Formats: sequence, C-alpha cells, structure tokens
Amino acid sequence: MAESRTPDQVVARAARSADLADLDAGVSDCFACPRLVGWREEVARTRRAAFRDQEYRGRPVPGFGPGDARIAILGLAPAAHGGNRTGRIFTGDRSGDVLFAALHRAGLANQPTSVAADDGLTLRDTRIFSAVRCAPPDNKPTPDERDTCAPWLHREVTLIRPTLRVVVALGAFAWAAWWPVLRHVYGQRPPSPRPAFGHGAHWSGAAVPELLGCYHVSQQNTFTGRLTPGMLDDVFGRAKQLAEVD
Ligand code: SF4
Repeated sequence: MAESRTPDQVVARAARSADLADLDAGVSDCFACPRLVGWREEVARTRRAAFRDQEYRGRPVPGFGPGDARIAILGLAPAAHGGNRTGRIFTGDRSGDVLFAALHRAGLANQPTSVAADDGLTLRDTRIFSAVRCAPPDNKPTPDERDTCAPWLHREVTLIRPTLRVVVALGAFAWAAWWPVLRHVYGQRPPSPRPAFGHGAHWSGAAVPELLGCYHVSQQNTFTGRLTPGMLDDVFGRAKQLAEVD
C-alpha cells in the first residue's frame, strides 16, 4: 500500500525508504494521525484571507536540503499557513523569513527569502526537517502524534548519517525529539538525565552528531526580541565551525 494510515504502516514505510526521494514520497502520503489529517485539510479548505486565491497543499511536509548535509536543522512541525500551504518547510511564514535570512547570512542558503516551493531557494551543507510532519492545531502535537511521526525523522537521519555532523534543535520540543534518534539511528543510549534545553546549549557524545540548542524562530520569540538575528548568527557560526563547513 502506498499510503500510511496506521503507526505500524509508518514504521514499515519509513524503514523501506531507500533514499530521500523515496522517503519524501512516503511522508507526503501519510495519513496516520487522524486529528492532524483533519486539521491540515480543514486549514487548506478554509484558508487565511491573504491566501484565499491560493491552493494549499494540505499534506505532510517533507525535509528540504541536500542529502549530503553536514548540518541538520530540526524544527517542531510545519506552520498551518506556511509549510502546510506551500509544501516546503518554513516557507511562506514569518518564522521562515527569519530563519532563511540567517542561513543566507551564514552562507548556507543562496537567497534570504523562502516564499514558495518554486522560488529557486537552495541550501548548502544543510537539511531542514521537523519532528512532526503535519501542521498541528496551536503548534502543539500530542505525545502520540510525536511518536507516530518519529520513524520518518529516524529514517531521514539514517539516510544522511554518513555526512551529518551537527544538529541544531529549534526549541525544546525538537531538542527532546533528538534523544530517541540516538537509540534508533546510532544504537546509543541517550544521556540520563537528559541535558536541559537552552539557547546556546551544546551536547556532545561519542560518534554521534553534536547537538546545539537554539530558541525557535517563532514570531513569539523574534517579535519580542527573545531571539535576535545576532543570536541566530552565533548559533549558525558555531554549527559551521563544529561541522567544518567553510
Ligand atoms: S504527523 Fe507524521 S505520522 Fe502523523 S499523519 Fe502527519 S506525517 Fe503522518
């Protein structure tokens, strides 16, 4: 069956994804979380006034960026009127405006904006994906939804594992979603107690990617000045240094 409609089908489909294109296709055909499927489709039907004349994608949002990335950026989930509309993660919303401007300053993106899937944006040495692949109401997936979606993340990390050196976790949810990856992808027991999330937090383990914490690029953080462009520049500068990216 092409579509994944149960947690077991997500596990099986993710495991047999031979490459990123195959994985992305599997993610796009996932219907395993009834609440999130209902929400992504309702948002796509009702739309926001500013996008009334646009066709929303209304499906899960795969990762974006080259398969030989040395840096991964792990987010929470797509935005209802951003990735859920455009089909590309952090594309067409204010969070993406801040994120891609920073990646461009860091030399990791060819342009500072990300407005549509066909806008010519490319990333260098960097792949972006989220812990949960469907837009959740209030940006809050349930623990069950997080766990159901995790096999997609685990397989994606497995596929880029040969080059992956650094993971930047955007926010506490993404930080927490990284620990199961250590077991599922790297066969390692996560540290106990878990290191606390914070902006600039850095965790290192043996033979696993370095983990950097960064406040999420949400409007709540960027509009209030909790997260500034300078703070993002510091994190991506550190990520490049650790990943040995020029
Ligand atoms: S959140 Fe993940 S597991 Fe759930 S329906 Fe979307 S892609 Fe599938």
